[in-house]
Amino acid sequence: MTIFGKIIDREIPADIVYEDDLCLAFRDINPVAPTHILIIPKKDITALAEVQGSDHTVLGHLMVKASEIAREEGLEDGGYRVVINNGEGAGQTVSHLHLHLLGGRPFTWPPG
Ligand code: 5GP
Repeated sequence: MTIFGKIIDREIPADIVYEDDLCLAFRDINPVAPTHILIIPKKDITALAEVQGSDHTVLGHLMVKASEIAREEGLEDGGYRVVINNGEGAGQTVSHLHLHLLGGRPFTWPPG
């Protein structure tokens, strides 16, 4: 089980900001922006590359929740970014699908 699986199971603590049957959202332990929240499916999906057609409901749900949490965190006016790193080459370090919701500072493009 990954560290995120253990957070879902409450085996290790996290600063949880939202939870429902399909997903969990919690603050990143090593934030790279003033607001840095991880939004993960409760289903054990390793990476975006492993998503199946049957996952469309949960994937859509994660995006809807990212939008709602961004609003609740007051990120809309300043802009925010939602990132999924897929695979080691893109910086994925935890093998459980997660959206990074980043806000509270300006972001440059292209990303590093
Ligand atoms: P990735 O690099 O896989 O896209 O993102 C993994 C993220 O998980 C990193 O931003 C890292 O700081 C965060 N992270 C790793 N372990 C923990 C943990 O135990 N608790 C929390 N809250 N975040 C974690």
